[in-house]
Amino acid sequence: MKILEFIRRFKDEFACRDHFRDERLKQGITCGRCRVKTKHYWLASVEKFQCSRCRSRTNLKSGTMLQNTHMPFHTWYTVIHLMTTSKKPFSTLEMQRQIGCNRYETVWNMMMKIRNSMGKRDGKYMLEGEIEMDEGFFEAVTLSDSVQTEMINNNDYTVEKTLKRGRGSQRQAKVLVQVESRSTMQEKPHDKNRVMGFAKMTVINDASSNSINYEVVKGVAKGTIINTDKWAGYNSLGELGMIHNAQEVKGKDAMKKLPWVHTVIANAKRQFLGTHHSIRLKYLQGYLNEFVYKLNRRNFTFRDNFDGLITAAVATTWY
Ligand SMILES: [Zn+2]
Repeated sequence: MKILEFIRRFKDEFACRDHFRDERLKQGITCGRCRVKTKHYWLASVEKFQCSRCRSRTNLKSGTMLQNTHMPFHTWYTVIHLMTTSKKPFSTLEMQRQIGCNRYETVWNMMMKIRNSMGKRDGKYMLEGEIEMDEGFFEAVTLSDSVQTEMINNNDYTVEKTLKRGRGSQRQAKVLVQVESRSTMQEKPHDKNRVMGFAKMTVINDASSNSINYEVVKGVAKGTIINTDKWAGYNSLGELGMIHNAQEVKGKDAMKKLPWVHTVIANAKRQFLGTHHSIRLKYLQGYLNEFVYKLNRRNFTFRDNFDGLITAAVATTWY
């Protein structure tokens, strides 16, 4: 959605709130007492939904991404718009400036919730056909290392700056990268001869076959062709009903044999370096979610992108 369309559709708090209410009614509301989706009515006088079966009431934001947040709908919608339509990610400070919010933590929390919703939305998608799979290593700061950080006070917000004191304060986090990649029949001499589909990037504790298999079962359809290098952690992919194709991948053939995983890893790293000066290990998945969400929707219109995330935001998080 272009900025002018956004302004026209969501011009004020009422427009955003009404849209959010209508989206919830359209998706169906899970009743907290009945514990299933039931028919609900909107009670305008008290601004609550009412279950037609047990008559219990649900607040407008309850059970959604916006639960327990005090930010107006208009601010939420604006942040979602900016995060889903910009090509490059926003830093928290930049977002804070754009929406004119005093508290850094408030904006940071909103953005993290949105990144979680992006991950949930993409988590429903099963990769299929043919994929490339490999691991990438991302610089991240672990919690125990965060002692070596400095809090910088800047008027009304606090930012954390990581002090790099030699080795050990940063750690290489392992990320499993899976990208749909199919051959384009025609051989292009100076280009990749494969086209890319959907991607997934997941922080894993280790590259053992247990950790890898867990992610594959969760996110890859049976019968998919999986191209990997010869790492032993991939050895049991065949037992999961996949067609496993392990090949020797030496340094310079990486771009030929597994072109898209390497492109995706390089682009993510470049983007993170340009926006977030250091990433805590526990939040790395959130930043990956945002990167992959936009990557997977690179051919979507802006409007699809925004509406998709509102749908995810409205989805009940209770059960
Ligand atoms: Zn009920």
